[in-house]
Amino acid sequence: MKDLVVGSLLFLAIVIGWFLGKAERKKKPAHLGADPITREYFLGLNLLLDDKQDEAMEVFIRTLDVNPDTVDTYLVMGSLFRRRGEVDRAIRIHQDLLARPTLSKLQQNTVRFELARDYLKAGLLDRAERILKELVTEDSVYVLRSLELLLSIYEQEKSWDEAVETANVLVGKGKAEIQFRLAHYYCEMAEKSHKLSDIVDARRYLKKALQADKGSVRASLLQGRFEFDAGEYSDAIKSLRRVRHQDNDFSPETLGLLDKSYEALNEPKEYIKYLFTLLEQHPAISIVIALSDKLRQLEGDYEGAYVLSEYLKKRPSVRGLHRLIDFHLANTEGPAKENLALLQAFTQQMIHNKPIYQCKACGFDGKALHWHCPSCLGWGTVKPIHGLEGE
Ligand SMILES: [Zn+2]
Repeated sequence: MKDLVVGSLLFLAIVIGWFLGKAERKKKPAHLGADPITREYFLGLNLLLDDKQDEAMEVFIRTLDVNPDTVDTYLVMGSLFRRRGEVDRAIRIHQDLLARPTLSKLQQNTVRFELARDYLKAGLLDRAERILKELVTEDSVYVLRSLELLLSIYEQEKSWDEAVETANVLVGKGKAEIQFRLAHYYCEMAEKSHKLSDIVDARRYLKKALQADKGSVRASLLQGRFEFDAGEYSDAIKSLRRVRHQDNDFSPETLGLLDKSYEALNEPKEYIKYLFTLLEQHPAISIVIALSDKLRQLEGDYEGAYVLSEYLKKRPSVRGLHRLIDFHLANTEGPAKENLALLQAFTQQMIHNKPIYQCKACGFDGKALHWHCPSCLGWGTVKPIHGLEGE
């Protein structure tokens, strides 16, 4: 990494040298001796070669005259500092550039956009927001990129009203893929309203979420939970059953509430029927376990264990094995029971140490379902894990 940085700085030094040489050639004949600027340039180069990068950069900044030819070099330097995490220096370069009267309007906007990125990286969200809003209202070439950065600021601040407003502007400008994120913003607003016991607003926001993205699993899951809490069990079931058509990978997330909703309506057999339907399309271990648990509850241990063992023959699963041991433990005595308990402690340990969800974009995993990946900040990228130790 250090080599890369030194390499980049050396490259910049060469670029600066080229610009200085060009400027000098224009200005005067070569026989007049070394100019102070050129002396400063060589001083900077020496410092760089002596591994004194900070001092070298100071000298280069001092040396390079700002004119339309050198603005790009300054911008590269600013961006390099920001990438190195030296945001203060990047800010100084960009502020210094902005103070020059020689910049064209386009160059000014480029520098302002870069300065906004510096502020964003420094966590100075208010300052970044102010510049980006100006770039949007001035109808500059940075409108779309500014709106996207504004959206990331509102996400960080959890300012969902402003996020919705900005996302709608982006959609209006042809960014249809933002609809997907828009649905998540409405879900965030719905959750907030539900926490404040405002079911009317919560329902309204979920409706908007599904209008923005009819495939929003999150909106259906929330609708199921809110309607269940409101005692509207049929509506809860309707919302939860929608998930199967939106993204079947998330069907296991619906099972707990579906079970309770069917119980509340005294229709456990309808639940069993639905589980069989689900299994035909999506043979996930959570669904098999839910089905065997329900059969065990209604018809006894044997029926429950039979469904589970038949499934495990086709698709081995640690979680399935763990539950199967549980069934047999209840019906075993003596040393066999002790051995089964030992085996179950082992499978328990295996399950306990494993993540349940993983981000498809960055690989972040864990036991909680995040709709907004904490690592790569992707929306809806975290999904249940499949395979021997997962679903
Ligand atoms: Zn991620």
